[in-house]
Amino acid sequence: MKNNNFIKNVLFTAVLSAAVTGCDFASAPKDEIHSDGKTMGTFFSITVVGDYPGGQKGLDRDAEEVLHKINKDISTFDKDSVLSKFNRSKSTEPFPITQDMADVIIESLRVGNDLNGATDITVGPLVNLWGFGPKKVNRDGNPPTLEEINLAKANTGLDKIHVTIGKDSAYLQKDNPDIYIDLATVGEGYGADKLAELLDRKGVQNYMVSVAGAIRTKGVNNRGKDWVIAIEDPSNEHAVGRNVIVPVCTKGQAISTAGSYRNYIAGKDGKTFSHIIDPSTGRPVEHGTVSVTVVGPSALWTDAVDTGLMVKGGEAALKYANERNIAIYVVTRNANDDGFETHYSRAMHRYLECE
Ligand code: ADP
Ligand code: MG
Repeated sequence: MKNNNFIKNVLFTAVLSAAVTGCDFASAPKDEIHSDGKTMGTFFSITVVGDYPGGQKGLDRDAEEVLHKINKDISTFDKDSVLSKFNRSKSTEPFPITQDMADVIIESLRVGNDLNGATDITVGPLVNLWGFGPKKVNRDGNPPTLEEINLAKANTGLDKIHVTIGKDSAYLQKDNPDIYIDLATVGEGYGADKLAELLDRKGVQNYMVSVAGAIRTKGVNNRGKDWVIAIEDPSNEHAVGRNVIVPVCTKGQAISTAGSYRNYIAGKDGKTFSHIIDPSTGRPVEHGTVSVTVVGPSALWTDAVDTGLMVKGGEAALKYANERNIAIYVVTRNANDDGFETHYSRAMHRYLECE
């Protein structure tokens, strides 16, 4: 990347991490502070334009503290996190959780219900069954049986978990001992929001925060212009350098992308299985929509919405977005399957017009 204000909103995080640290750092202008590293099994990156209290060290330390707390709450990569303990527990009694965790779960349930269950944080048993969970399952390219799918489906559903909030307490409860909550799809957006909250608290006026491509922006970049985030061109899927399908000017909003073309498992006969699962069928999505990008007020929200819209597929996603004035950008395989088409909702127009 030559221009370090042009951050790719990619769908495969590890490669972006290398690209950001490798290229941006070398050319970082003096009036920016960067902090980046690993979190929740993926990467984060922060760009602050201007000063930060305590400078680089202060930013590194504060970001680490914020992310450590999130990991301790909701990471399934951390066996000792509150969420991992809840998932292991077979008890159907109320389980104490933190207020922050309650916030994430309540918001995820709210968005999921509005999407008719297309985003479902209880999809964990299905995610694990198809081999996308923390434990990798080797099925030699064979999909799970119908019986296995139905069994896992019986343990999923937004109505099967309950959050209760008291004055100084919060509890999570499962209807069934085998319920397993997967916050992977919203955790990144939530992380970006929490880092943005930190920067707001410290009085930073201009910043860009990314947790695995779930991005929050505020103010302007170091050239005084709106932040520009690129949606990746999926035809370049095996390349290390990424092509850009369209630049998006976020105008202070959050942006994130759900995609099925980078994270998938190759099955027999060249068939691939996406890591996005349709909770209604219990199977990976199979339509020709390869990515859905959402722009909106919080990264937790865009991250929850993009997954559900990926489940619904391009046409239904655009209908849903236009009925609610939500800004989305959809990339779909064309009818001949030899290229891609792009479509966007009415509300997306303004983010495609950069100064
Ligand atoms: P992307 O990599 O496309 O940005 P995310 O990492 O945000 O997607 O979310 C994908 C992950 O979310 C999957 O690996 C799985 O753990 C979980 N997941 C899959 N399908 C669903 C679904 N329908 N609702 C909620 N979470 C899902
Ligand atoms: Mg998502």
